[in-house]
Amino acid sequence: MLRKIYPYAVSPVDDLDDAAGFATRQLHAAPLPETPITPRATPIYLTAGFRFTEYDQAAAHFGDGEGYAYSRYGNPTVDAVERRIAALEGGSEAVLVASGQAAIAHALLGVASVGQRIVSAASVYEGTRGLFLDNFPRLGVGVDFVNDARDLESWAGAITAQTRALFVESIPNPRNDLADLHALADLAHAYGIPLVVDNTLATPYLLRPIEHGADLVVHSASKFLAGQGTVIGGVIVDSGRFDHRAPTAGEFFPHLLSRSRLGGPSLVDRAGGNARIQFIRDSIVARLGPTPSPWTAFQIGQGIETLSVRVERQSASALRIAQWLESQRGAVDEVDYSGLASHPANDLARRYLPRGQGSVFSFTLRGGHPAARTFIETLQIFTHMAHLGDVRSLVLHPATTSHVQRSVQEQRAAGIMPGTVRVAIGIEDVDDLIADLDRALTAVARTSHLSATSQEMAG
Ligand SMILES: *Cc1c(COP(=O)(O)O)cnc(C)c1O
Repeated sequence: MLRKIYPYAVSPVDDLDDAAGFATRQLHAAPLPETPITPRATPIYLTAGFRFTEYDQAAAHFGDGEGYAYSRYGNPTVDAVERRIAALEGGSEAVLVASGQAAIAHALLGVASVGQRIVSAASVYEGTRGLFLDNFPRLGVGVDFVNDARDLESWAGAITAQTRALFVESIPNPRNDLADLHALADLAHAYGIPLVVDNTLATPYLLRPIEHGADLVVHSASKFLAGQGTVIGGVIVDSGRFDHRAPTAGEFFPHLLSRSRLGGPSLVDRAGGNARIQFIRDSIVARLGPTPSPWTAFQIGQGIETLSVRVERQSASALRIAQWLESQRGAVDEVDYSGLASHPANDLARRYLPRGQGSVFSFTLRGGHPAARTFIETLQIFTHMAHLGDVRSLVLHPATTSHVQRSVQEQRAAGIMPGTVRVAIGIEDVDDLIADLDRALTAVARTSHLSATSQEMAG
């Protein structure tokens, strides 16, 4: 079933002038359709389904996906948010799902099936890594990891005749080890496969992977898009440029090019460049069922209206904090923020993230795990929790929490030391945040001094 959204007013995803800036577009792109009642805010259609007001509507819906029938297949609140996100990412269509994990899983299930493989950067979110290591192999989809995402030869070397997608994060955490998205997109296309980018940490305000050649973009909308730490959600955005004329398209993606079950036209015949996202929407997401609540969709939509304002401030504060931490040489070993000239990916950051380098990064305390404990216990403004992209500043100790499933060697390879602390910078006054960090560093210095003295006394 090919769904036509907004049967009562067809409007393109983005009918704003191309010249409109991001902040204007986050409020006005993909406007709500004209209806007899005209609310300014997006209404929440909190309903499982929709009445057919005329007998023939039912058949029209089941025939060509005309209109709304059941919220797992489509809901106006969800559609409104999907269209806004698609416009901001420069994609053609988006599918909202119940979490970021669902977005990653369902996007990739739309391109790879049993016996096929995905090549991924090793530096990915831990939930994604678990999905790739444990779940996908159980479905017969293997994942090959590339340790140094900047090394194009490693990517090329990992691609086999079975590979159906490359996967990378636009800003990996905690180490900010960026990859060259343009080069990866070219490589993927040379093999006739899509590049899938998790753009959670950059957000479309800082980076739009589709402009650099990416084919699919996924997000955890729980983070910056929703922005206030209230909901869990995810989104899949497609470039709309699925190329069915590529020599390998028929062999690689038969589910998009073969005739429908009753012998009707293929998805490519019906949806052209949108065949892939239509398949993900109708045959993966609607069947496996990670449907977002319209209430959650509304919250994500509210968040998006202030996205640029938050992300701009969070990035500017993060840069200042990273610079300040780097100046604390006695206590801090290394600061992994790509906006710093000392960072190995600073050249890529200058190229891909000119508006700001994000607000999630790590740094390593010289005093190891005891220092990290004292540091986190002393912080008052930073909240100790496993989340990011919130308006509040957050802190976490990766070695004992998010990355505890990795061996010590794997943690080291990912740049996670016993003294590594990850921060996600919020929108508080940056001077207050620095004062909080300063207080925590002072406490670390005091306790390490005390323990050194007691060791001397004991010795
Ligand atoms: C949080 C996160 C996810 C998972 O998203 P959920 O909404 O928690 O399911 C995926 N990728 C990245 C980069 C994340 O930060």
